[in-house]
Amino acid sequence: MSLSLVKANGSGSCSAGRRFRWREGERKPARSLWLCTLVVSFALVFPFPATSSDEGPVLDEGLGRFLERYAQPALIPITERVSLAFAFDLANVVVIEGDDGVILIDTGWKVELAREIRAAIAEKTDKPIVAIIYSHGHLDHTGGVRAFVPPEREGEVEIYASEHWRRYQVERVSSRLPHIAHRLVAQAGLLLQGSEAIGMAAGPVRRHGKTISYIPPTTTLGDYTELVIAGVKMEIFYAPSELDDELIVWLPEEKVLYAADVLTDVSPFAATPRFEEGRSVDGLIQAIEMMMELPADHLLPGHSLPLAGSQKIHNFLQANRDANQYLRDQTIRQLAQNRTREEAAAAVKLPPHLADNPDLQERYHRVSWVVRGLYTKLGGGWYSGDPLEMLRLSPQDEATRMIAMAGGYGATLDRSATALASGDLVWAAQLAGYVVTAGSGEVPEIARARQLRARAFRALASESPSANEYSYLLTEVLNLEGVMDVNATVPGLLGGLVSSDMYSLVPTEDLLRDMGPRLDSERSQDVVMTLGLSFPDREEECGLIVRRGVIQYLPERPEKADVRARLSRATLDAVMSGQARWSDLLTAGRVKVSGDEATRADFERFVSYFDF
Ligand SMILES: [Zn+2]
Repeated sequence: MSLSLVKANGSGSCSAGRRFRWREGERKPARSLWLCTLVVSFALVFPFPATSSDEGPVLDEGLGRFLERYAQPALIPITERVSLAFAFDLANVVVIEGDDGVILIDTGWKVELAREIRAAIAEKTDKPIVAIIYSHGHLDHTGGVRAFVPPEREGEVEIYASEHWRRYQVERVSSRLPHIAHRLVAQAGLLLQGSEAIGMAAGPVRRHGKTISYIPPTTTLGDYTELVIAGVKMEIFYAPSELDDELIVWLPEEKVLYAADVLTDVSPFAATPRFEEGRSVDGLIQAIEMMMELPADHLLPGHSLPLAGSQKIHNFLQANRDANQYLRDQTIRQLAQNRTREEAAAAVKLPPHLADNPDLQERYHRVSWVVRGLYTKLGGGWYSGDPLEMLRLSPQDEATRMIAMAGGYGATLDRSATALASGDLVWAAQLAGYVVTAGSGEVPEIARARQLRARAFRALASESPSANEYSYLLTEVLNLEGVMDVNATVPGLLGGLVSSDMYSLVPTEDLLRDMGPRLDSERSQDVVMTLGLSFPDREEECGLIVRRGVIQYLPERPEKADVRARLSRATLDAVMSGQARWSDLLTAGRVKVSGDEATRADFERFVSYFDF
């Protein structure tokens, strides 16, 4: 297989390219000859700078080997017309060369990284990009779109997506965004520095991309569509599965199947710690069964490496299908037997023939996480069947009593240290956690407790087969070691996860009705205030009341208002997406408050009760 490699700044070589230390022995990963040969004289575009003083984090050997695949971005040829832009960004981009234009499936996450893909395509062909298909709405498949559709070409490039595309885009900018961001930042290790930033097993998380874009689809597709674009025949299937707007693309003449994010070569991700409203395990199983009916010679996943050969593809699909089916059924079986969530998570394990399959290793999520997620989603809800869950002691109360039972702070931490020394890592972390939870800043043992818990987390991370578990643990270590306050840092990153383009897709009413979670209910506990809002560009008038820690949206212009403001929807969107501040917009005259200086102060007071 020949590769078209992308030139980048700096320099790299095979000998300098070792980024991880394995836990077991010091065997070097088996790298393909092609990579070693071609990589010389080309730099690695890599997020974790390997220096002589930074030998890389200690990782589980299997995980370290797995992540090596993402070291080098490449445009991998699949057939004469089709190539796969691999490891430029978190997700793959499929490049299809038609008779008189190029068609892309997906666009990557960041505009800067997508520009590198565009440059790689330009080395191959000078045909223009004429169409883009969003396989689904996740950020890592849509965010790079403006690299391929500059403003002057907007409208010329057809953008296809499922007719169900809007729900997720609206969810992305809803009040759920901060929650999604907290979990995603930890999962992807976005706050980890240097060689500890191993990214996700789904692909590299490269740091030099910052810009997220979105262009809504120009054409939406139903359950099944046959298309011919630039002379290339395509069949596009709607497959609500990993997300509820997922599309699978089949190129019958090339015998190439794009599986989107239905599966990749890791254990199933039918549920996730960040919770995906639009994910369905039944949909995943059905999507895989549908793909198994297509006579594919090449399978391209949305993440990870392409697969060739009909038998290999069949086996790959079959194993993943069965793993999803097994986890679904056995979790429901646990529910049917009235087992608690934790009992189910401990009991349900993949059977040996699936657990040992190299394409079903827990590189991304852990199987126990998926079981907990399915338990909750498929019927268990928050209640796991133990009545004590309805009456629980607060975490601080429980911790205080456990410490007393163990003989005090010092004795609890001595037990934690003993557990740590003997490799009983979860128990060591749990014991130290009691002291962190129960103690205040004045307790002298707190520093030792945080240190012990951090050491246990580091050791657990170094043993973990899962890149996501590694990153979740080490993100908490940032808190424990006082490197940063993670909760306080994440809100500043929200602007990097959405663009204000996306807010304009949401009706004003929905945006304002969803403002409640931004309200600081404590600070506004004694406030009763009405704001009248007018958006002349949309000919909309409405209002918002803050009433003692609660909001109410008023669908019409309020007759009486404490303060009235006129602004464009774009101005509101800029504030909502964190790209502008109210005070600057007032000064620049982009928000006009009727009345005098005192009224402007009232407006500033009103918005100050909300997190923006
Ligand atoms: Zn993806």
